[in-house]
Parts: sequence; structure tokens; C-alpha cells
Amino acid sequence: MNVYFDHAATTATSAAAREAALRAMEKCWGNPSSLHAAGRRAAQRLDEARQSVARCLGASPAELYFTSGGTESDNWAITQCARMGAQEGKCHLITSAFEHHAVLHTMERLEREGFEVTYLPVHEDGLVRVEELERAIRPDTALVSLMYANNEIGTIQPVTELGAVCRAHGVLFHTDAVQAVGHLPIDVRAQNIDLLSLSGHKFHAPKGVGALYCRRGVKLGRFIEGGGQERGKRAGTENLSGICGMAAALEESVDHMEENDRKVTELRDALIQGVLARIPGTRLNGDQTRRLPGNANFCFDGVEGESLLLRLDMAGICASSGSACTSGSLSASHVLLALGVDKQTALGSLRLTLDAENTVDEVNYVLETLPGIVSSLREMRTGW
Ligand code: PLP
Repeated sequence: MNVYFDHAATTATSAAAREAALRAMEKCWGNPSSLHAAGRRAAQRLDEARQSVARCLGASPAELYFTSGGTESDNWAITQCARMGAQEGKCHLITSAFEHHAVLHTMERLEREGFEVTYLPVHEDGLVRVEELERAIRPDTALVSLMYANNEIGTIQPVTELGAVCRAHGVLFHTDAVQAVGHLPIDVRAQNIDLLSLSGHKFHAPKGVGALYCRRGVKLGRFIEGGGQERGKRAGTENLSGICGMAAALEESVDHMEENDRKVTELRDALIQGVLARIPGTRLNGDQTRRLPGNANFCFDGVEGESLLLRLDMAGICASSGSACTSGSLSASHVLLALGVDKQTALGSLRLTLDAENTVDEVNYVLETLPGIVSSLREMRTGW
């Protein structure tokens, strides 16, 4: 059996997204900036896609900028908010220790440029605390950037409350919602969000396309120099087919969100309970319920995540691990370390991320296969 349980890494492009992208390539291949009929047709499709993505977020179309994906949106939002803050003498930024590297590495670069960054602690349940954010905000804080849902352990932050604290203190609030958009209901206004990053390939759109929401009134500077596309804020001829595919995929995800989330949550819970019951020496990472419907993340004592992945792959199961092999040695997931998991335990992590396409049979197959692989890897290691 072949099982794909790595939907947090990427998802298959849906039929609706493929069809919309193809239609754009066939019928609207003009440059949206051209004044002639072919250009106008493309510009109209671009407008329609913008309206549809905006509607799914509770935003207005004028607040949306199309980008190449989550990484670009995060870099843009954080870098330009920091620059705006610096112009007013505000050089302090707040984030958390378990953000995606698109956020963390941008923060590190800004630190090297002289900004001061506070990294909020993440508690054992995989969540930051609203009170701790409030205590960390200073008169010179320019931006708070906290992710909506974590890409490794799936925990969902109290975004509305975090945004409310920022709003009360007059500080801009950016959220990396790459793992949340298309999977959780989002309303940028009701949730006090000033800037939000999203990426199409996490909800069945093609790769290399995403968006940045920026609330009206936030005077975000340009990130890429060039032409006047995206109302002069993001230069470069628009990836129209990708954008149309993304809009179709998002509409479809939002339309079916409730039923999909119910189904995926049931599969996830069966998987979590089955793994914990069948494999001793296992820990579930992150809060049991305040996590993305499709996310299960475990650590197995006495097992290396990479070996586990290879064995699962041989059994036809696509999964992922927080640990990575860099220059010949294994490095533990910064997310698990931020939660206080010790390095040895963190090296034995496994992320299984499900989607509405998955089935009970696939969950059962993983539950039948995984215990044997974990015990054989443990037997191969001394001390187990
Ligand atoms: N932020 C989070 C939370 C992610 O999970 C990812 C991708 O895995 C990104 C940002 C980067 O998005 P993209 O792959 O579109 O650059």
C-alpha cells in the first residue's frame, strides 16, 4: 500500500486548481500589465482571483498582494515592518522560538543589522502565552510575528487574543498562517491580524505561489524592485496561472472545510490513540486537541527519525521528521528543542500529516506497520 502522510510538506494539486491554472494558460496568457485586449483579459482574471482569495480571508482585495509563497511573504512582512519601525526609532521585534525558518532566519538577519529580537518561550503544550507576549511588548516594539499553526507539531496559537494584545499596544501583528489557511477558518479583521502570510501548495494549489495580506492603513514598503505590479508593491509579472489555481484551491478548501476537518480529525485521533497504545516509549508532541486537524507528531525513545523515515518509505509510507542530517551529523528539530524536549528524544521524532484524501485503511496500515519498524530499530541499537 502507498500512503502519503506528509501533507504539511506539500499537497497534491487538486483537479479544480489544475483546471483553473490550465484555463488561465490557455485563455488568459496575456500580460496583465498590457493595455490591449489580451492584457485586459489577464488583468480581469487576476482581479477575480484576488477577490476570491480576499473573500476567503475576510479581507478586501486591495489588501492582498500575490507573492511566490510563504517564504517571500514572511521575509517581506517582517523586513519591511522592521524598516518602518526603525524610521520611528522602534527597533525591537518579538517572535517565538519555534517559528518556521523563513521567520527565524529573517529575524536573525535583522539582529545582525542592529534590531533587538525577543523570542517568546513556547510551553510544553506547544503554545505561547498571551500574558508573556503582553509583558514582552515595549514602547519601542515595531512588530510581533507569531505563527498561526506550527508546521511540525501542528499546535494552533490563540491568534485572536495575541492580535488583540498587539492592537491594544499599537504594535503591528504579523502571523505566518501557511499551515492554517485552507484548513482553519480565518477572518483577518475579527482576529486582529495586520499582516498574514499564506502559501498555495499547502492547500492543493500549485507550488511557487502565495500571498501577503496587509491591512489597509499599514504603509508597507516595496520588497522587490522593478515594475509597478501589485500596485507598485511587488514587482515582477504575475504568475497568473498559479494565482488562478490558488484561488480555485482555496475556494474549494473553504467550501469543504467543516466536513474535511471533521473527517481528518477523526483519522488523526485514531492514529494518535493507536500509536500511543501500540508503541511503548512514545510521546505525543504538542497539545492533544489544540492542533491542526491532520497533524500527529511523536517521539520514539531509542529511535533515530531519519532511519525511521527510510524504513517507512520502504514500506510505502511517506512521512517526515523534524531532525535533519547536516554535514554528516543529525541535528534535532528546533521546534521540539523549543518545547523543552531533550536532544536525544527530539532526534526520534516523526511527523504524520493527514488530509481529507486519506482513509481509515491507510491509518490502519500505518498502525500495523509502524510498531514493527520501531521495535526493529530499537533492537539494532545498543541499550534497547
Ligand atoms: N511558513 C510555514 C509555517 C511553513 O510551513 C512553510 C513551508 O513549509 C513556509 C512558511 C514556507 O512556505 P513556502 O514553501 O511557500 O515558501
